[in-house]
Amino acid sequence: MTRSFVYTARPSIVVFGPGRSAEAGAWIERLGCARALVLSTPQQAGDAGALAGQLGSLSAGVFSGAAMHTPVEVTEQALAVARETKADCVVALGGGSTTGLGKALALRTDLPQIVIPTTYAGSEVTDILGQTEGGTKTTLRDARVLPEVVLYDPELTLGLPVAMSVTSGLNAMAHAAEGLYAQDRNPVASLMAIEALRALKSALPVIVAEPRNAQARGEALYGAWLCGTVLGNVGMALHHKLCHVLGGSFDTPHAETHAIMLPHTIAYNASAVPDLLAPVGEIFGDAPGAGLWDFASSIGAPLSLRDLGLSEADLDRAADLATANAYWNPRAIARGGIRSLLQDAWEGRRPA
Ligand code: NAD
Repeated sequence: MTRSFVYTARPSIVVFGPGRSAEAGAWIERLGCARALVLSTPQQAGDAGALAGQLGSLSAGVFSGAAMHTPVEVTEQALAVARETKADCVVALGGGSTTGLGKALALRTDLPQIVIPTTYAGSEVTDILGQTEGGTKTTLRDARVLPEVVLYDPELTLGLPVAMSVTSGLNAMAHAAEGLYAQDRNPVASLMAIEALRALKSALPVIVAEPRNAQARGEALYGAWLCGTVLGNVGMALHHKLCHVLGGSFDTPHAETHAIMLPHTIAYNASAVPDLLAPVGEIFGDAPGAGLWDFASSIGAPLSLRDLGLSEADLDRAADLATANAYWNPRAIARGGIRSLLQDAWEGRRPA
């Protein structure tokens, strides 16, 4: 094989280790800032308040209204608070929703961001931002939204509920799996993807059995960082497109949708790029799609779209939406094939 590729590193500082979220204050100062607006969802407002307390005079206050899919109205409210409090940076504490709010603020103000992730979504290391306005979600890529500093502290994930750990972990794995066959794939992203899949394969079953296992939590967060980095480095294809359609048009929950769809989308593409997906088969056993399904099933992941409240009648429209606009995928997107993939995912059938 003749090597030929482009690799673009995205400049962010990644600090990783148990307890290292305590370095947030030092990083605010290192960024030349003095007043951080701490961001969270309402569910994590208590943790955000505690973090603001630890930051002391480096905290400008807390905005705890972050919501799924970054609604523009919420961003505008947070923007007003950032102005009132004269914030000169943001610290986002939480999952992809909170990170999304920090990115949306950075897009509008260029405020530096420190992100302290508490799920495995991976948004903190990408320059991608999805925003919702009037019920429509649009996605953009912009260097301004890439967070400057990420503090990965596995201790903050010890309490991530098992069900969320499983779906969020599979959401992360989807970035790595699709990265392996990306049109702009490159050796560095592929190395990270394979390492990430191995890390999450070993960590998630331990977390299911023993949610507060510090070693496994560290390994899962390490895998999630690598998965996010792959997502930020190369383009995604069928899997992310289908999940975007399902979440955007049928309001299915983000991580669960990714978890259910992953074995099916990988099975669909495996016939076109068996060599590129061979590492998935090696790591999970069997054919890539079937191996992923067996793994998801073994850790108690949701397996059928039916369980997310999607009706069988919705599948035709989902197939239409997912095939309406052309996009790159390693295997040709045929409506019939996508419709039957959706049927399998709806029924929770093990892919061949
Ligand atoms: P989330 O951020 O919405 O979190 C789900 C819920 O879990 C929230 O209530 C949150 O407060 C809570 N939570 C988070 N961490 C917790 C913890 N450790 N313990 C207890 N509760 C906790 O969900 P998510 O799956 O992390 O993120 C999904 C969003 O992120 C979607 O909007 C998705 O589009 C976006 N996303 C964006 C990118 C990107 O690169 N732009 C990448 C991945 C995901």
